[in-house]
Amino acid sequence: MRFHQEADRSRYDAVVIGSGMAGLTSAALLARAGRSVLLVERHDRVGGYAHGFRRGRHRFDSAVHVVGGGDAGRDPGRHLIDRVLGTLGVRDRCELIRVDPFYTVCLPDLELRVPSGLDEFADVHVERFASEEKGIREFLGECVGIRAEAHRAAGVVRATDLSRFTLLRRYRRAVLSDVLNVHVEDPQAAAALGALWPYVGLPPSRVSFLYYATMLMSYVADGAYYCRGTFQNLADALATALRQNGGEVLLRSTVRRITVREGRAAGIVLENGQQIEAPLVVSNADADQTIHELVGANHLPAARSARMARLDPSISAFVVYGTTTLDLAGAGLGHETFLYAAGDHDTAWRDVLAREPSFVTLTAPAHADREQLRHGEQPFAITTLAPYAPADRWRSEKAAFQERMIDRVERRLPGFRASIGFVESATPRTMERYTRNREGAIYGWALTPRQTGPGRPAAETPIPGLLLAGHWTRPGGGVYGVIDSGVTAARIALGSDPLT
Ligand SMILES: Cc1cc2nc3c(=O)[nH]c(=O)nc-3n(C[C@H](O)[C@H](O)[C@H](O)COP(=O)(O)OP(=O)(O)OC[C@H]3O[C@@H](n4cnc5c(N)ncnc54)[C@H](O)[C@@H]3O)c2cc1C
Repeated sequence: MRFHQEADRSRYDAVVIGSGMAGLTSAALLARAGRSVLLVERHDRVGGYAHGFRRGRHRFDSAVHVVGGGDAGRDPGRHLIDRVLGTLGVRDRCELIRVDPFYTVCLPDLELRVPSGLDEFADVHVERFASEEKGIREFLGECVGIRAEAHRAAGVVRATDLSRFTLLRRYRRAVLSDVLNVHVEDPQAAAALGALWPYVGLPPSRVSFLYYATMLMSYVADGAYYCRGTFQNLADALATALRQNGGEVLLRSTVRRITVREGRAAGIVLENGQQIEAPLVVSNADADQTIHELVGANHLPAARSARMARLDPSISAFVVYGTTTLDLAGAGLGHETFLYAAGDHDTAWRDVLAREPSFVTLTAPAHADREQLRHGEQPFAITTLAPYAPADRWRSEKAAFQERMIDRVERRLPGFRASIGFVESATPRTMERYTRNREGAIYGWALTPRQTGPGRPAAETPIPGLLLAGHWTRPGGGVYGVIDSGVTAARIALGSDPLT
């Protein structure tokens, strides 16, 4: 595939800023609908946080390890990612492999191997916490109901319009632990049901229950998937769809300004000074940068700017990438293994804020993708959440932090350290450097009840012709959510459903 180094033309129907999964989705769908589209990306490859990289004979995912709903499911065309790839005609350009078992959670005095599938998820928890069966099933029933309402409510933006959706209304302000406390008495059962909180970047006492429930169901009910050969292949499949429909991808190019003329978006200016006209601009970049740096706050109502200033970004992450000669599957670990030193997640969160990696997630992609096992060696990633600030300390703290992360795994897996071949790490500053997400935020705005649903900026902005797509807009962070936002941006721009 040839990627352009400079824009072929000075005018397009649409310019998309940033090639995260949201930007790629909206660009490809707009091109499929016959629009001339230019996608501009600063990095040397597409994908944003979903990009992959190579070291020696191994490939690594920079951030994303798993997505929800990667195949057609029982109801063909129901699962979003499969639908998008199918509509764009690139379903065969990447292979999404179902991950089973999905994950292992290790809490003090508890190790639980959790399979894929809703019934299986329920059964494994009920088997371990028999006295909590009723509460566990009720809790999951609420999650299933929320997912159904969220699907029906897609596109409903005003808070008042939510009146028809009982569960969305009931739980609008709830955090996960509010709901777990109602249904489950055993703190260990609650900790196990809330074990996926790092996927939403906040502990059960802070994260929006609605967002946790939809995330949980996207993995558990729709199925958890890994992309063969890294998620770069999923990003490349979307870029291929864009190009096959006449679109262009401009790499290693930074958008410096969004042009606003007579109150409307009119195009962009690149860092090299090239001006490109377009009546539609979709920004997949950090929303705050889009408004304050690329557009200029003077083009927006003051109240809008002030509202954005009150939003808090999500936390960042520290990732150790490496190779091991250990047999991770044989050691009883899932695709993902959550290792918690503390039995309650609030303690783990306090440690995160104090830059102590008391919990880590070990990812072993070769579980699902056996081709990643090369010459008896397989890649791994160890991830923890970490605050960005104070940013200047990361350079001096990086090596020791990496060692503490490896120590965590060594405690569960003696011999791990000695088995490591290659090792390298990314700090919150690295996250920011590669994607320009402010402070290396992993999910855009933090997923609190206040900042999800109507509390999150919508795709439409007060500037006609300027749309937002990605994890800084609705519904929120994670590949499933941002692909949804890319579809929404295309739907608004086209005035029709881009998936039909
Ligand atoms: C460590 C980590 C692990 C994660 N694991 C998972 C996971 O397993 N599953 C999951 O679903 N989610 C995961 N996430 C979250 C998920 O990766 C993100 O929510 C999602 O990928 C964000 O996509 P996006 O479309 O918003 O854009 P981003 O991925 O943020 O990409 C934005 C793109 O815009 C480009 N850009 C920005 N400004 C400009 C500009 N001015 N000019 C040109 N280009 C610009 C950037 O270079 C970047 O490529 C993880 C995140 C992290 C950090």
